[in-house]
Amino acid sequence: MSENCKQNCSSCSEKCTDRKEAQTDFHIKLHEMSDVKRVIGIVSGKGGVGKSLVTSMLAVTMNKKGYHTAILDADVTGPSIPKAFGIKEKAMGNEFGLLPVKTKTGIDIMSVNLLLENDSDPVIWRGPIIANAVQQFWKDVIWDNVDYMFIDMPPGTGDVPITVFQSIPVDGIIVATSPQELVSMIVSKAVNMAEKMNIPIIGLVENMSYFKCPDNGKDYQIFGESHIEKIADEHNLKVLAKIPIDPKIAKACDEGIIELFDGNWFEPVVEILEKIGENSNLKNCCG
Ligand code: ADP
Repeated sequence: MSENCKQNCSSCSEKCTDRKEAQTDFHIKLHEMSDVKRVIGIVSGKGGVGKSLVTSMLAVTMNKKGYHTAILDADVTGPSIPKAFGIKEKAMGNEFGLLPVKTKTGIDIMSVNLLLENDSDPVIWRGPIIANAVQQFWKDVIWDNVDYMFIDMPPGTGDVPITVFQSIPVDGIIVATSPQELVSMIVSKAVNMAEKMNIPIIGLVENMSYFKCPDNGKDYQIFGESHIEKIADEHNLKVLAKIPIDPKIAKACDEGIIELFDGNWFEPVVEILEKIGENSNLKNCCG
């Protein structure tokens, strides 16, 4: 070690024997009994735009195609996945780890709400604790033979989503937007984050895109004209789906029967997700 050593290898050019290389891979190991083939993260600029709905519908769509799907609910402070699927029971564990709860059609779910004694207990945790809980959902849960895991990310591009993206090897990101947000800014931020994390953006989903009038069958753009196609073009991204405002969607979420809801907006996404599997990040990572 040089006499002038300041114990800061990252800004030092000395080639001494005590040199410590900076850690660049923060990925956490999956539970040794788990098998997860592809991981897709669903992000949004803020809460309430339908990120959980998009996550749920993607899992339901791929499940209907015969894939075993799972949802890791990383939206720890606003966990809405268990309610949308009508899950009342709590997650159990065995001597090896935590077990996800299965929905009616066999989708595996893990969420902080499945661990809280009382569903309505607020989660008043600071960022690092939230990120830690999500990491535990990855490493302490036994995810059995999952073809597609969808992660309902915490909203925004702050500390918590970034920590989650650094610790879990995500294969691609889907950005859920709604026309009443500042879509252009949100997409730019998501693109920036994805580039920094080196994760591809699979595409954008516009929720609450329009309302189809049941009386005359016409579509109305309640929140004004959508700019999603133009914004997608600017970033060279695909618009994967446009979902209407539909009171039946809200009702299905409220009644916990989202997996029985018949909407085929995500059919075109199936093929795209199938292609992702061919060069999954998980194959090059901690496994
Ligand atoms: P987020 O995950 O972004 O916070 P959610 O998916 O939980 O948002 O949706 C927020 C609320 O809006 C839920 O009660 C849901 O049922 C309702 N909702 C979402 N999308 C639609 C839609 N397209 N039509 C009607 N209600 C919707």
